[in-house]
Amino acid sequence: MRKPIIVGNWKMNKTNAQTKEFIEAVDSKLHDHADFGIAAPYTALETATENASNLIVAAQNVHFEPSGAYTGEVSVEMLQEINVKWVILGHSERRQYFNETDADINKKAKVLLDNGITPIVCVGESLEQFEAGETEKVVRTQVSESLQGIDATKAKTMVVAYEPVWAIGTGKSATQEIAQTTCAIVRDELTNLFGEDTAQAIRIQYGGSVKASNISEYMAGEDIDGALVGGASLKVDSFLELVEALNK
Ligand code: 13P
Repeated sequence: MRKPIIVGNWKMNKTNAQTKEFIEAVDSKLHDHADFGIAAPYTALETATENASNLIVAAQNVHFEPSGAYTGEVSVEMLQEINVKWVILGHSERRQYFNETDADINKKAKVLLDNGITPIVCVGESLEQFEAGETEKVVRTQVSESLQGIDATKAKTMVVAYEPVWAIGTGKSATQEIAQTTCAIVRDELTNLFGEDTAQAIRIQYGGSVKASNISEYMAGEDIDGALVGGASLKVDSFLELVEALNK
């Protein structure tokens, strides 16, 4: 049985003060039926790890080099120093606005896993690709190129998030059938890469306009083990509604 995992991706939102306030309101209200986390901006990560006892704290990116002339970047060691144990990789906004490639994500995933940090690797097709019927091809390529060469035992801890770009922040969520079908494709590609055992252990999230009113429907899909949530993770009330929806 894979334990459900819900992570709020805050993107470029929340100061240190707002992060502390959110965690104080949420951290004690979680339960054991699922893992819950938030991905805070770099500046608020230390506040998050210092205040969270139950919430997973994730960064939204990392650089693959250990140090050096990479202006604006943050290393694995810097995240480890402030107790960050999870990192989102390859979010579509990073692929789209910052030209991140599957090859970059592959290097980052390897460095994280070698250092005991868990990556949440994002994949997903654009609207154009969806309309052209290319979802399966795009997602298989992203999964195999982002995760090739990773040791199967280490890969077991990883999370993969399927987020169709056309469903992010648009209020236009994918149907449960599309989400489940594509998450099953992700798992099939993980099986090709790592074998059945590892592929069955890896948790796969759906992301794109997830909220308390639709999360249970997605989670009913046999290959959907949780959600990566943007908008609905920002307010204490809507986050706690997600927590309650999973309390069974
Ligand atoms: P929304 O839930 O706002 O659509 O964002 C999804 C997302 O990008 C999470 O990473």
